[in-house]
Amino acid sequence: MSEIINFNISEIIPTREEILREQGVSQGIEVKEKINKLILKALDIFKSKAQPVGILSEISIKGFEEVFIGEGKNAKDTPLENIFPQADYLALFALTISKKVSETISKFFKENDFAIGSLLDSIATLASYKGTKVIEKYFQKSIQKKHLTKQETTVLSYSPGYCGWHISGQKKLFQFLRPEKIGLSLNASFLMTPLKSVSGIIVYGKKEIHIFQDNYPFCLECKTHSCRARMKKLINQ
Ligand code: SF4
Repeated sequence: MSEIINFNISEIIPTREEILREQGVSQGIEVKEKINKLILKALDIFKSKAQPVGILSEISIKGFEEVFIGEGKNAKDTPLENIFPQADYLALFALTISKKVSETISKFFKENDFAIGSLLDSIATLASYKGTKVIEKYFQKSIQKKHLTKQETTVLSYSPGYCGWHISGQKKLFQFLRPEKIGLSLNASFLMTPLKSVSGIIVYGKKEIHIFQDNYPFCLECKTHSCRARMKKLINQ
C-alpha cells in the first residue's frame, strides 16, 4: 500500500552556499551583493510556489525484480542488480517539488531572465535532492519502528536513468507506484512532468551492500562519478 508524504518546505530549502556551489562557484569565493540579493529573491519565489509531496510504497525483492527488468533495456551488468537482492527492505518512491516551480523556471527563461531562472532551477534541483533524503530517512524510521530493528543499517536510493538502470524503467515503476496520485506523469521519453521530480527505489540494508567499484562499461561516459561521494558519505556515517 502506498503512502503520501507531505514535506515541510524548511526541510528541503538549500543554503546560500549550496546554491552557489550548484551554480559552479567554488567554496570560499565571495560574490557581489547583487548576487546575494538575487539568491534571496529566488528563494522567496521558491517558497511561494513549492508544494513538495512524495509517495512511498514498500515492495518485496521479488516484486522489485520485475520492476527493475522494466522494458528489458538495462545494461548487461549494473550495481543495483547486485545490491537490491541483499536488501532487508525496499520501497519505491517518487516526489515532486511542484508544477508551479517548473512553470516559473520556464517562464523566466522564456523572458530571457536567465539569472533568476537559473538560480530558481538550482534551488529546485537541490530541493529535489534534499526531498529524496527526507523520504529515505522517513522509510528508515518507519521500518525501524515497525520491525523494532536496531541493527546498524542504512538507506540509499537509486533512480532509473542512472548507472545502467535504463530510463524506460520508469514505466514499470509508475505502474506499481501510481505517482499520478501526487500529480506526476510520464511522457513518451519516460521523463517526468513536472520536471523537478525524482523517482526510484530506496534500499534499506547494511552499509557494505552499497559499496562497489566504478568500473562498469557505462562508467566511462559518466561525468560526475557521484557514486564515489555517496559511498564516502556512507562510510563516514
Ligand atoms: S561512475 Fe557514474 S555511472 Fe558509474 S556507477 Fe558511478 S555514478 Fe554510476
